[in-house]
Amino acid sequence: MSIAVDTMRAAVYHQEGGLRLEEVARPVATEHQALIRVAACGLCHTDLHYLDHGVPTARKPPIILGHECSGTVVEVGSLVEGVAPGDRVLIPAVLPCGSCEMCRLGRENICTSMAMLGNHIDGGFAEWIAVSARHLLKLPEEIPLEEGAIIADALTTPYHAVVRRARVAPGERVVVIGCGGVGLGLVQFARAAGGRVLAIDLVDSKLELARQLGAEATVNGGEGNLGKAVRKALGGAPEVVFEAIGHGPTLQQALSLVAGGGRVVVVGYCSHDVELSAGRIMFRELDVLGSLGCRPVDYPRVIELVRSGVIKLAPMVSHRFPLQDIAQGLDALRRGELVRGIVLP
Ligand SMILES: [Zn+2]
Ligand SMILES: [Zn+2]
Repeated sequence: MSIAVDTMRAAVYHQEGGLRLEEVARPVATEHQALIRVAACGLCHTDLHYLDHGVPTARKPPIILGHECSGTVVEVGSLVEGVAPGDRVLIPAVLPCGSCEMCRLGRENICTSMAMLGNHIDGGFAEWIAVSARHLLKLPEEIPLEEGAIIADALTTPYHAVVRRARVAPGERVVVIGCGGVGLGLVQFARAAGGRVLAIDLVDSKLELARQLGAEATVNGGEGNLGKAVRKALGGAPEVVFEAIGHGPTLQQALSLVAGGGRVVVVGYCSHDVELSAGRIMFRELDVLGSLGCRPVDYPRVIELVRSGVIKLAPMVSHRFPLQDIAQGLDALRRGELVRGIVLP
């Protein structure tokens, strides 16, 4: 047997030296797992938190990064049912345990024993991946397999934030701060929920895309009096503000923009503490809500909204990088050039 059969190319994160392209052992599916030929895996700011900002991965490196992954099933373990070789599948970013208290409450997205791809277990910046088959979701033919990868985070995360956490109602004024993949997903789902959406970013091309995806107004966050511009464009202060960057100053901005009695939803991940005005939260009865990922029960809903064209996928995938060029992809992400970039092994 030649060595190429048993190994694969993967982007492996090391404590020292960061991300390295390496030849590693190809995973083998256990009896409950499926072996998947990776079609694509999205680049996300979470990857930069590990690489640039000292946020530790849950499993000690070396670990293969990447948590937004799609592919084709090639082999299944002896006890797997309902998934077969040839199936086109989406792998959720987070695999909940199914038995902890949060899982039993139906809040699997905050499972206390979760396994997140590219964090607790090896991820999708690789040619192959083996995961527990019960989590897999079949992608319908209408959804391109490669672009479909971003559903695993850039579209399911916003669904949960808009529908389950903010519960955006028709006619509500909604502001989205940050127009990367998750931010533009927030724009789309808030619009689909009937909200009147205003998007804020520093990059005009992303604001243009936000308008194409349903924002009725946009404001460049680097210009002038933000609060005034927002109230003028929406005809009042927003009832809901999503912060999709994970940046202290923009989180504080969200709290100052929101209307009395409104909701601020923290979707972006910030690795350090941020000071928020407790007085403002108390006097104005503000709800500050965290939002993480998406529950398994909602994945099929998101897939159907993409299949039926209510939620647009193609415009959100702005760049494609072969696995050997992943470093360039991460650089482009650092420079804020990507809406969503996908890596193709
Ligand atoms: Zn992510
Ligand atoms: Zn659990």
